[in-house]
Amino acid sequence: MANKDYYSVLGVDKKASADEIKSAYRRLAKKYHPDLNKDDKTAAEKFKEVNEAYEVLGDEKKRANYDQFGNAEGQPNFGDFFGGNGGSFSGSFGEGFGGFGDLFGDLFGAFGGRGARTIERGEDIDVQINLSFDEAAFGVYKEIIIPKIEKCLSCQGTGAKDGKEFSQCSTCKGKGRVRYTQQTLFGTTIQEGPCKDCNGTGRIVKEKCAQCSGKGYKKVTKTVKIKIPAGIDNGQTITMRGEGNAPFREGVSGDLRIHVKVSPHKVLVRDKFDLHLELYVPFTLALLGGKVEIPTLNGPYMLEIKELTQSGTVMRLKGKGIKVLNRDSYGDLIVTIKTEAPKSLDKKSKQLLAQLSEEIPRQAYSKYEAYLKKIK
Ligand SMILES: [Zn+2]
Ligand SMILES: [Zn+2]
Repeated sequence: MANKDYYSVLGVDKKASADEIKSAYRRLAKKYHPDLNKDDKTAAEKFKEVNEAYEVLGDEKKRANYDQFGNAEGQPNFGDFFGGNGGSFSGSFGEGFGGFGDLFGDLFGAFGGRGARTIERGEDIDVQINLSFDEAAFGVYKEIIIPKIEKCLSCQGTGAKDGKEFSQCSTCKGKGRVRYTQQTLFGTTIQEGPCKDCNGTGRIVKEKCAQCSGKGYKKVTKTVKIKIPAGIDNGQTITMRGEGNAPFREGVSGDLRIHVKVSPHKVLVRDKFDLHLELYVPFTLALLGGKVEIPTLNGPYMLEIKELTQSGTVMRLKGKGIKVLNRDSYGDLIVTIKTEAPKSLDKKSKQLLAQLSEEIPRQAYSKYEAYLKKIK
């Protein structure tokens, strides 16, 4: 299921607007809602898929991440670096339902279904990764070590020896949830909550799993290999779905979110995929022309400055910027030339400048001339 293309799940175009996605989702969620398709098991699956797709495409930030990092199959690129867990349902009903408050309020309020089929979701793990400017520009493989909670494999999370030594909880008949009545100011209400006898698992363990002492999960330290794509920027987040903590009871794992921090370059300033350089040159060089070495991602480059270059002149070096994420194109390197006047002058220089000042006619300074005319 995780291999589905979210756009085709919702039957919308990749360029679909947020409204189009929302209405496609509403239509499909109504069509496949389990309460309306009690005898159709495939509907429940479809419903999950639709929710999973909408959870990503309905969220501007998640959608951008999916567009950037998702490959043709709709799996994050990073999936390759993990063993197991690949086919698990990575939606998050617990969090997702809360997130679509407005939608679900009017869609499913009538069914009373909200929250009833909550699937427990493990906690997300947030980590920060520090990259050098070049690592972000060119991409890099990084390894991080994270402590996390994983489902115990020897008991498949049941907490029972070999995953077999348990019986169904008689209190909740294996459902894990019980209904109970509660007296409130408004009278008697029926509530539903986790079964206390089995701690919501629906199982009574006869013999505990020795590997996890019956907990069903283990605290482990895991080395995660992350492919950082070329072009990633400071402040962006790589989300590895389902690679966060496993839930304490049955359910789906949270996400691993890697927050990217990129060190600034010593002179180049990045703006999306373009690089900017504010280059101060001696005013004489700007007048006479010459060459100045500038840094680029591919090493030093001799920038030719034509004679009579005005301060503020912008030079655009095509394709010498940052690689665009997951695309075979590059930004530009944009150099703004600024002229610098000397902070001190010796006597001889002053004399030479005085001569020069006499020599150059006022009309050569078109802007200054125009200014003087305006204020007259
Ligand atoms: Zn175990
Ligand atoms: Zn129970």
